[in-house]
Amino acid sequence: TAPLSEVDPEIAQALADELGRQRGTLEMIASENFVPRAILEAQGSVLTNKYAEGYPGRRYYGGCEFVDVAENLAIERAKALFGADHANVQPHAGAQANVAVMTAFLKPGDKLMGLSLAHGGHLTHGMKLNHSGKFYEVAAYEVDPETGLIDMKKVREVALAEKPDMIVAGWSAYPRELDFAAFREIADEVGAILWVDMAHFAGLVAAGLHANPVPYADVVTTTVHKTLAGPRSGLILCKEEHKKKINSGVFPGQQGGPLMHVIAAKAIAFKIAGTEDFAEQQRRTVEGARIIADRLTANDVADAGVSVLTGGTDVHLILVDLRNSELDGKQAEDLLHQAGITVNRNAVPNDPRPPMVTSGLRIGTPALASRGFGEAEFRETAEIIAETLKPGADIDALSARVAKLAADFPLYEGLEDW
Ligand code: PLP
Repeated sequence: TAPLSEVDPEIAQALADELGRQRGTLEMIASENFVPRAILEAQGSVLTNKYAEGYPGRRYYGGCEFVDVAENLAIERAKALFGADHANVQPHAGAQANVAVMTAFLKPGDKLMGLSLAHGGHLTHGMKLNHSGKFYEVAAYEVDPETGLIDMKKVREVALAEKPDMIVAGWSAYPRELDFAAFREIADEVGAILWVDMAHFAGLVAAGLHANPVPYADVVTTTVHKTLAGPRSGLILCKEEHKKKINSGVFPGQQGGPLMHVIAAKAIAFKIAGTEDFAEQQRRTVEGARIIADRLTANDVADAGVSVLTGGTDVHLILVDLRNSELDGKQAEDLLHQAGITVNRNAVPNDPRPPMVTSGLRIGTPALASRGFGEAEFRETAEIIAETLKPGADIDALSARVAKLAADFPLYEGLEDW
């Protein structure tokens, strides 16, 4: 019963410092968010103590009657939220959900075709050091070098030439909507399974701001912690015919005991994601990204060699192109960090600079929208970013403006006393 501060003061201090960092800076990493208090509570609950291998009603351990309630709620809410026949809510994270899908549909040596990592794909879509690239043959499609867009004619050409067993449509760094109907047609033409990884944009789908891939795909995976604003974890949705395969791909395919405290938190996240408040937050997320994209395509930043890939955004993130700027991705990330804005550097397609440096930035709005930012605050944020990326920026003055925004939108008020 001793509190954390007594049991382990060093870890208690790290937690307190991290809370201070989150409160005092502007979090603009596109894959991050702030979870509501209810989700922190569920994740810090006694459900962490429970072993529950198996599925609700069919467990390999006794005493699962209450965790079954939580898992059934998570399943039913996920199905309703996305209109899916089946949901598996057990993946510990997005990468685990993706491994489970590959385990379910592919044999080692089968061919997976995904968006190249260097063009915005994810590690789990066939990168050579990842499970996906080690156990399967890989074919990659890319974005068009001129427009930065995925050209479905070229995707079809790659698919016809490579004859993949599975095609994955999804991204970690791409600012536009995918054409799921065209992916479906191509998958059917070559006899491939269509897997959509909506990890980044699932929150927009839940809010009706982005096309829903569920009707088109054989299987859909997502993380729950990005735009969906839930606990760090994964989710798989699929058609009824694939239910058995998917469940056994997760357990016993590649996981043991599910994290029941996280599954309870997922149930809460799916409940919240069905509300009008959540939809409104997602609308601010998308509007904020558009405001920043507009500001970073204005003449004064263009004069500094800064532009935006594809000329704008349809989603919650902007990809800044610094190929013509004096700043590289690392320098730009560091300057924004000094100003109090957290982003990550990101390679642009065919990046001339090395991967640890890059010529781009990925900037996202989900966390600030969760914090309450609306049009006025995103305009001010856009202005601060634009000024930081121009030569001769007064970083002290800009960081004072960041501090004011952060102070005006308090985060986790009273958390110390919860
Ligand atoms: N899929 C996509 C498209 C992602 O962007 C990510 C995370 O960045 C993942 C999967 C993996 O999620 P996790 O980090 O939870 O394993």
